[in-house]
Amino acid sequence: MENKKEMRTWLDDMDLPHPLVIAGPCSAETEDQVLKIAHDLKDTDVNYYRAGIWKPRTRPGNFEGVGAIGLKWLQKVKEETGLKTATEVANRAHVDLALEHDVDLLWIGARSTVSPFIVQEIADALEGTDKIVLIKNPVNPDLSLWLGAVERLYSADIKNLGVIHRGFSTYEKTKYRNIPEWQMAIELQSKFPDLPIINDPSHITGKRDMIFDVSQTALDLNFDGLMIETHHDPDNAWSDAAQQVTPKRLVQIMDDLRIRKETDEEAEYNSKLSNLRAQIDVIDNQIIDILGKRMKVSGGIGTLKKQKNVAVLQTNRWNAILGKMILEGESQGLSEEFVLRMFKAIHQESINHQEKIINA
Ligand code: PEP
Ligand code: MN
Repeated sequence: MENKKEMRTWLDDMDLPHPLVIAGPCSAETEDQVLKIAHDLKDTDVNYYRAGIWKPRTRPGNFEGVGAIGLKWLQKVKEETGLKTATEVANRAHVDLALEHDVDLLWIGARSTVSPFIVQEIADALEGTDKIVLIKNPVNPDLSLWLGAVERLYSADIKNLGVIHRGFSTYEKTKYRNIPEWQMAIELQSKFPDLPIINDPSHITGKRDMIFDVSQTALDLNFDGLMIETHHDPDNAWSDAAQQVTPKRLVQIMDDLRIRKETDEEAEYNSKLSNLRAQIDVIDNQIIDILGKRMKVSGGIGTLKKQKNVAVLQTNRWNAILGKMILEGESQGLSEEFVLRMFKAIHQESINHQEKIINA
């Protein structure tokens, strides 16, 4: 992957710092709440103040946002604190209202990115704007939907364009609310190396105590900024209560993050190295994940064999697997010796696993 910060983007043109920090509540709830949080964030590293005005909720009946009145509150935020403002837009009417109220940064939510009709409507409404426009990844892990949205917005002559990585929904139970699938963000970055990418650890984790770690990974992967939901009373927030942090905690998180600014050759080397290491960490986690899945499937075979009273070790099947994997390995540049050793270890673990089930 390119080292993005060697390239000039609108972040440099606007003289924005690294990392860019967007923070504020999931939802604007009341005027007092919006202003209170904004004042708490005023003298921090926060560059843009976010608040959802129209909230796309997966199920009806949850808080769906205060609507256009919230835009007046964001105007007040700008007047009183000098913070720039940000909100989500999901159709032409939202865009028109947000532009009328001089919102500085507009983002397209994950539930909108899945719909090319909606994305096109928003792109048309924003045509030629010099506001910052950020596109969240679609809720499902489909890179082409995300790329397609970027292409639609580029075609509408939007210069200050970027993306937000907020994770993907999955039917699997994981520790995340939305699994990061970091490789998707890495792939998007390699397709559009000069497109700034912001990480949203709040929606990835769904839990405030995991936000620091995800933010650090994002910075190690050369992300350009963070969007972190922040609320003065997170537990009583009207939406996404579990993932919001207090302004005080946000300041602590920003202080604790290792932020790399490359200015000389040594720093550039360190930055490239940590970027590659972060990619390796992502892949290693995937390896462990996939091995865990393999063991579960193998456990299923154990249960079947138990019902039929069949022996655990079946040599023919095993030799067939090995032969195939040696060939596959070769095509990936892996030596036969390595593939054999690795699969012997995997196979042994599988047998142990199945025997435990059969003898249970
Ligand atoms: C949000 O930022 O509050 C939001 C609704 O996010 P997403 O579109 O990522 O779910
Ligand atoms: Mn939210």
